[in-house]
Amino acid sequence: MGTPETDFVSWLHHSRHFVAAVTLALLWWIESVAPMFSGRARRLSHVANNLALAAINALVASGFALAILAVTEWARARHFGLLNLVALPEWLSWIGAIALFDCWQYWWHRLNHRAPLLWRFHAVHHSDAEMDASSGVRFHTGEIVFSFLARLLVVPVIGISVPQLLVYEAISLPVILFHHSNLRISNRIDRCLRWLIVTPRMHYVHHSRWQPETDSNFASFLSVWDRLFRSFRLRSKPEEISLGLDDYEEREWRRLPGMLASPFRKSSARATTSQRTTTDNR
Ligand SMILES: [Zn+2]
Ligand SMILES: [Zn+2]
Repeated sequence: MGTPETDFVSWLHHSRHFVAAVTLALLWWIESVAPMFSGRARRLSHVANNLALAAINALVASGFALAILAVTEWARARHFGLLNLVALPEWLSWIGAIALFDCWQYWWHRLNHRAPLLWRFHAVHHSDAEMDASSGVRFHTGEIVFSFLARLLVVPVIGISVPQLLVYEAISLPVILFHHSNLRISNRIDRCLRWLIVTPRMHYVHHSRWQPETDSNFASFLSVWDRLFRSFRLRSKPEEISLGLDDYEEREWRRLPGMLASPFRKSSARATTSQRTTTDNR
């Protein structure tokens, strides 16, 4: 018999995949009846390839689980980390943990656009010209490995606990699937939601093949970071955004073997950010 805390962690660990599957199924249905970008063909094969990549990543992530558990326990035993510097009320510790970890995710994502080596792998996420909810889990396995290696350092620095990390993942994943989904959400609803979370109209801009737009809207859960760090950007007509990357038009890059191989081809590097232009930010 476990403690209430370990029971809660165990429940979260097992239910987050179920919640993600239900969210994906629900979004698939809404994408079928009210898409923002119409004329999509071969949707099933598109989802199958993205989910196959996600399945490989889930296996890799589970391999890192014990290492993450070890560093969080190490930090907790030594009162190490920002959240352990002062005695915070439990509720404030939770808000602080989720905000700090989300802020880290923002800067890590920004670094993935800036560092040429990281971009080679992150480009697989951006190469999806037919972005839908399944694109939210389309990441190259190499990016997942780099991300977990960085987490092993960042998790003890923040002082986030395993339950806090699991809650963050459980609440951020449905938001990530939502803002990648191809659904015709009105600007009015999107504007209300984007005061708190990253929305589809924000994230479509991030998936634009025009680099000044690609290098904007880096947040993955809370939208505040793009406003705070001046990377927030919108388009008045998101349905006119050209999604994807120019060098990934051939069908081979949309299939699992091509996605896995693409960081290792010569042309997957990118130029540095060109000049930015004015936008209708709100
Ligand atoms: Zn990105
Ligand atoms: Zn994305």
